[in-house]
Parts: sequence; C-alpha cells; structure tokens
Amino acid sequence: MARQRKPDWLRMQPPSGQRFTEIKQTLRDRDLNTVCEEANCPNLGECWSGRNGPGTATFMLMGDRCSRGCNFCDVQTGGMEALDPEEPDTVADAVADIGLDYVVLTSVDRDDLPDQGADHFARTVEAIKARDPSVLVEVLVPDFQGDLDCVDRILDAGPDVFAHNVETVERLQWPVRDRRAGYHQSLSVLEHAADTSDAYTKTSLMLGLGEYDHELYRALSDCREAGVDIVTLGQYLQPSRSHLDVYDYVHPHAFETWRRVAEEELDFLYCASGPMVRSSYRAGELFVDALLR
Ligand code: SF4
Ligand code: SF4
Repeated sequence: MARQRKPDWLRMQPPSGQRFTEIKQTLRDRDLNTVCEEANCPNLGECWSGRNGPGTATFMLMGDRCSRGCNFCDVQTGGMEALDPEEPDTVADAVADIGLDYVVLTSVDRDDLPDQGADHFARTVEAIKARDPSVLVEVLVPDFQGDLDCVDRILDAGPDVFAHNVETVERLQWPVRDRRAGYHQSLSVLEHAADTSDAYTKTSLMLGLGEYDHELYRALSDCREAGVDIVTLGQYLQPSRSHLDVYDYVHPHAFETWRRVAEEELDFLYCASGPMVRSSYRAGELFVDALLR
C-alpha cells in the first residue's frame, strides 16, 4: 500500500512551560521514565499541566524491555532485566514531589517473571496511596496471560481505575498484537476486574488499522458487556517503517461520531476519542469531570 501523508490534524505542538520543566527535572533527578516522554506523546503539554483539573503523567514500570513484541509498539523485545526493588518507592516519592493528583502506572509485559510482575506493580500502587490516599491511581496492566490471581493482586492494592487495552477489533488482534495476547483473554481480564472490585474499568482501541465500522461497534459492545466503564479511541501512528503500516487516517469527525456512539448509545461513563488521544489522555481531568456529571 502506498504510504499516506500525515494529515494536518496530526501536527503536534512541542510541550513547554514552567510546569513541564519542573516535572522533567524531578524525573531526571530520580532516573525515572514516563511513557509521556519515551513515546514522545503529543499530549504531554496538556496532560502534565492539568490546565483544567488534575494533571496526569504515565510511569512505565519494570524496565524498558518487553517479553512480547507487538507489531504496533516501539518498545524493545527481549533481554529482560531484574526488577529494581526500590522502584515502587522511587515512583511514589516522585509523584509526591511533583504533586500529581492523578497517576497512571503501566509496564512492559513480564512473562519471564513467576508472577509476571503483579506484586511489583501492586506495591507501587500501595506506596503511592500510603503517601497520599487522595492521589487517584490508574493502572494500565498487561493481560497476565489471563491469570486472575495476578489480576487480584493488583486489585487488592486499591487502584481507582483498572485499565487493560484490547487495542483493536477481534479480527486484527494478530497481526497487531503479540500472538500471546488475545481478544477474549483481554475481555476476561476486564470482566473479572469489573465483577470483583470497586475500581472503574477502562480500555483503549487504536483506529486506522483497517477495522470496519461494524467490527469496531462489536468491540465496543463486547467491552461494555464485559462491564468496562471508560473507553478511549485514538489514531494508530506507525512508530517506524518496520512496524505495521497505517491503513488510513481517520477524520476527527468520525472520532466524534464514535464518541457519541460510545457515550450516548452504549452508555460508557465517558469516551475520549480523537486522532491524538492515547489511553491516558488527560485521564485525570476527564475522569473527575465524568464523576461530577
Ligand atoms: Fe508494547 Fe505492551 Fe506489546 Fe510489550 S506487550 S510490545 S509493551 S504493547
Ligand atoms: Fe502521558 Fe498519557 Fe498524557 Fe501521553 S496521553 S502525555 S502518555 S499521560
């Protein structure tokens, strides 16, 4: 397929401002990585400043190498390193120093570890809540190969939002995701969290991978039936030429239509939908707004 030119609506503004500089410095001092910076996320300025409500940043736990290799993701595969036992406290200290009121914790997949990293993840939630129980914590977790004991360990730590991404419609799971991932496995993880905890549940899908409208509608319905409360929809962007091609650039009007379908027809608590939206896009502001509605 011929490569398509990026449309104008995907042009980004570089982040700037005092808040941005302060957060960046705190992260450097503690040698911490955020997805916001690593992925060069287009929303960094908006999320970190929290102009209209709680600021959001996404921390990446357990290293920068993944045991899986999804064809849309730029994280390196293999060469897994030992966990840093200090990481939960280091992240919690940084959250307190920066004064974030909404934190997203995510990680690479750690299929190489006996508990796939569930305890490390949970300890980070506990460390943040121990310092300030009012900080809202969203966890964006792997599928843990469908091991619900791992999911329970995370839920027991008391996250406010439990997120796991279905990523795409059922037909495209492969080639988009690693073969160890799967549509029904992901839905079962989300359904378990919805059924057994007070946490809000959340998922995210990328558009522009060749999905048909009826497949996207089906995926949204399946997520809602699994008890998912919140959904985000964003444009897939190819990280490098060795990753999956973009099939098409979905127009902002179509994203708005899907937002209305998700909120008004399928009754999601909220749907963030737009070309630049990522799973944690302005998560703090939108979550608090939705609860106050
Ligand atoms: Fe990237 Fe997650 Fe896939 Fe690992 S499991 S390659 S971090 S999307
Ligand atoms: Fe960070 Fe997520 Fe916001 Fe991007 S969308 S800047 S990764 S919090």
